[in-house]
Amino acid sequence: MRSTMMDYPLVLPSILRRAKEVHPHKEIVTKWHDNSVQRYTYGDFYKRTIRLMNALRNSGVRPGDAVATFCLNHSAHLELYFAIPSIKAVLHTINVRLFPEQLTYIINEAKDKFIFVDKSLTPALEKILPEIKGVEKFVIIDDKENCEAASLPNTITYEEFLSKGDDTERFEVIDELEAAGICYTSGTTGNPKGVIYSHRSTYLHCMAVCMGDGLGLSEKEVVLPVVPMFHVNSWGIPFASVMSGCKLVFPGKHLLGAGLAELLEAEEVTITAGVPTVWNVLYQHLKKNSYKLKLHTMVVGGSAAPRGLIEGFEKDFGIEILHAWGMTETSPIGTVSHLRSFMKDWSDEKRFAYRAKQGVPVTGVEIRAVDDDGVDVPKDGKTPGELLVRGPWITGSYREGVSKESFTPDGWFRTGDVVVLDEYGYMQITDRKKDLIKTRGEWISSVDMENLVMADPDILEAAVVGRKDSVREEAPVIFVVPVEGKKIDAKRVHDHLKSNFAHWQLPKLEDIRTVTAIPKTSVGKFDKKNLRKLLEE
Ligand code: AMP
Repeated sequence: MRSTMMDYPLVLPSILRRAKEVHPHKEIVTKWHDNSVQRYTYGDFYKRTIRLMNALRNSGVRPGDAVATFCLNHSAHLELYFAIPSIKAVLHTINVRLFPEQLTYIINEAKDKFIFVDKSLTPALEKILPEIKGVEKFVIIDDKENCEAASLPNTITYEEFLSKGDDTERFEVIDELEAAGICYTSGTTGNPKGVIYSHRSTYLHCMAVCMGDGLGLSEKEVVLPVVPMFHVNSWGIPFASVMSGCKLVFPGKHLLGAGLAELLEAEEVTITAGVPTVWNVLYQHLKKNSYKLKLHTMVVGGSAAPRGLIEGFEKDFGIEILHAWGMTETSPIGTVSHLRSFMKDWSDEKRFAYRAKQGVPVTGVEIRAVDDDGVDVPKDGKTPGELLVRGPWITGSYREGVSKESFTPDGWFRTGDVVVLDEYGYMQITDRKKDLIKTRGEWISSVDMENLVMADPDILEAAVVGRKDSVREEAPVIFVVPVEGKKIDAKRVHDHLKSNFAHWQLPKLEDIRTVTAIPKTSVGKFDKKNLRKLLEE
């Protein structure tokens, strides 16, 4: 029997229209490069987005065309987030930290027709200009950085471009399965791969983000996404904030320490989100300076949130770190680690251990962990297996097709993350498959070792990689960055590791190396490929 329900498509323009109808007076705030603060309302945002939609149409953008952004987090970027998919074009958010070869590759691969670019970021595109001939126009967004824009051909300013559109509200019918956006994986092996999000997947992902057991975005929250809008759509937070009517605060380039703390305080931000390295720096800053923050939740993902950091924020500042896991391929929110009601009386020790796990799948997502033969591993919190996922916002293929390494024959996505699952359904990542270290035939989890080292309050960051060893096959090497003004005592680190690692797993004392910084990838994760290369050299 068929239901009697309407076949109502889940598409982005309906989120946009609701924001105008229900939250026209809600604020959107941007702190630009020159520290000026721009405030406008969802009502103003709606009008400008309509104009932008018409300007795109009048400039020749057609359904299916890819239109790229090369921008930080600000209000114009939000307008592009909605205008491009709302005219059935495809929003391609380019990671501004990619190397020239990767940039060239993805711009050509996506066939970007226009690129909307922050003035201060134009030099990166100028460098690859001869290689990206398919781009017809560059629209320059004045990010109020005191710098010269690079000379790109066929440019127009964002405000001039907007003036090509009028205020006529025109929404065409959109099939919910049509492409709304495209992101490329960071491509740690081989070329980046394209993941295409549909209107439906984006809409459903937004709903999961808004749920209380998701990231809990509701109208009463003030949300500041630190995670860049060029990294997996800022984890879907801009879309979900507009869906809920949250006050949105965009930090532009003010992403660290004092700049970020001042904005969190001034705008009374309640929820923020970003990778652990950002919060490490903020934690050190908050320890030394006093702010009156309304912040109650920090969503942390992209890399494992160290337990020490979770404990520190909660005990010192009463701020909860909400640990989440995801990938470009999963839109990205896959799992979130909320404590359950029955855990409230657990000891601190046990509660923090649970917070440090990557959590349980959000409603809509299914997860499994399997061994090399594809058999589910026991949910005992200790047997590792590869994490498989499926769900309405998990990619079913890449733009380049379906590969055997990435999908099981029955359609689960193979994440490449090695995890353990426990009796309550919580997942914990023990490693990336390719980052595992094999010592005397046994695996060592680099993530476990990093977390234990980072629990030391004098240590800001630690990354563990394997080096070749004639006896042990591979041996762990720990790169450690001390907190400013502190010194690292390798012996102390070594002794501390003894509490959780067997003798044969421990690094040699000389393999505990102090460095001033750990190289990071374009999305702020420890760049282990680079670290391994450094070791080989
Ligand atoms: P990306 O597609 O660039 O977002 O990278 C996805 C990968 O980041 C995942 O496969 C994980 O290896 C890693 N990752 C994401 N979130 C977490 C987390 N909370 N803890 C540990 N690793 C994470």
